[in-house]
Amino acid sequence: PMRVRFAPSPTGPLHIGGARSALFNWLMARKTGGQFIVRIEDTDLERSSRESEQNILASLRWLGLNWDEGIEVGGPHGPYRQTERLDLYREAAEKLLAQGQAYYCYCSEEELEAEREQLLAKGELPRYLGKCRHLTPAERAAKEAEGVKPVIRFRVPEGEKVVIDDLVRGQVVFETDGIGDFVIVKSDGIPTYNFAVVIDDSTMEITHVIRGEEHLSNTPRQILLYQALGLKSPQFAHVSLILGKDRTKMSKRHGSTAVEQYKKMGYLPEALVNFLVLLGWAPQGENEIFSLEELIQEFSLDRVAKSPAVFDMDKLNYLNGYYIRHSAPERIAELARPFLVEAGLNPPEGEKYLWLIQAVQERINCLAEVVEAVQVFYQDEVKFEDEAAREVLKQEQVPAVLAALLHKLEENPAPTPEEAKGVLKTLTKELKLGGKQVYMPIRIALTGQAHGPELYFLLAILGYSGVKKRLDSLRV
Ligand code: GLU
Repeated sequence: PMRVRFAPSPTGPLHIGGARSALFNWLMARKTGGQFIVRIEDTDLERSSRESEQNILASLRWLGLNWDEGIEVGGPHGPYRQTERLDLYREAAEKLLAQGQAYYCYCSEEELEAEREQLLAKGELPRYLGKCRHLTPAERAAKEAEGVKPVIRFRVPEGEKVVIDDLVRGQVVFETDGIGDFVIVKSDGIPTYNFAVVIDDSTMEITHVIRGEEHLSNTPRQILLYQALGLKSPQFAHVSLILGKDRTKMSKRHGSTAVEQYKKMGYLPEALVNFLVLLGWAPQGENEIFSLEELIQEFSLDRVAKSPAVFDMDKLNYLNGYYIRHSAPERIAELARPFLVEAGLNPPEGEKYLWLIQAVQERINCLAEVVEAVQVFYQDEVKFEDEAAREVLKQEQVPAVLAALLHKLEENPAPTPEEAKGVLKTLTKELKLGGKQVYMPIRIALTGQAHGPELYFLLAILGYSGVKKRLDSLRV
């Protein structure tokens, strides 16, 4: 069983890339009968907020990614917010200091900046060259007396290699000489990400770390810390970046990056989950439609690609359309209501609303599109989409068809869709006309358009009075 975690920094809403990481971790936990843990990495005090934390948790829940331990649900390794775990980090830092594997550094921003520039000018990677590595107690005391608040740096071993056996990328090797002694505790006593993550993944007994490729260069630092602290390192799996269609890193230019935005635009959580899993993971067969339950069976890390995933909005729309069509109309009705209200369209009362939704459910890829799709039900006056439409109404059978329709509806002024279907059938039979000669003029007379939702829904929703109103206003 794997113990995996999602460890977001609450500095903004849940991002598409973060959601994908969460999903992959969740799937591996469920697949192996392990645990999925959510931990809040809020050590960036300036940028972290409870609001972002709530947003992230709400988005995870909306996607159906429940967690077994962690923030809000608790568990044996809490607290699950890093700012509430400072004692643990302090203790570990003390240990490294005592072992001589960490040291206080008093360098100022200006000194560090100058060093960076010098290295860059020489064409070398910027890194800390170890100025404070060998301060004597007297030198330290002098700095302290000046009131300089030190950071704590990790003493990176020289001339070694760090090997990552990455479950996605294979073996990745880093030279320690390129790393430079990095900060593990800032001058305000708050640990850095690379330090806190090691203490937390270790104390929370995380077995596998599945996260975005952007963290790959952090991993050797973390492995060195595990070694220095005598802790067992988890296994790593770094999932590729998500790119936009132009093959540059996915950003707001390519579309929304926040999960909540997709909810607001009318995407269903199962569609987004299905879409996210395909960003980097390739199913075995042809089928690309998977529920969370099915994914628990199908998903595996060895089918996660090393190459970047491309964010394809058309694919998301396709998947969302699929899930909308396969949802119960009752559910779509409930989800679509706020979109209609927002657009100032009053949803009809009772079962008529359900008919309205059934009429358009097949035709939308996204809940927001419901507004456009139901327009024909709301316009009392008929506008012809083009001359060809108007021409249809000049066919010779049309007056008889429309009169017969009105007559039938007078007998049954509020038909159900089923009954309306019957009315249309009887009309063709009684008038001895082909379907097209009957349906097309009726459709155009009522909507002005040659295509649209099923006619019998239209008749059921408009009823006799609605149909009459439209026919009366018709100017051919
Ligand atoms: N807090 C980090 C982030 O949001 C977590 C990275 C990790 O999974 O280790 O990027």
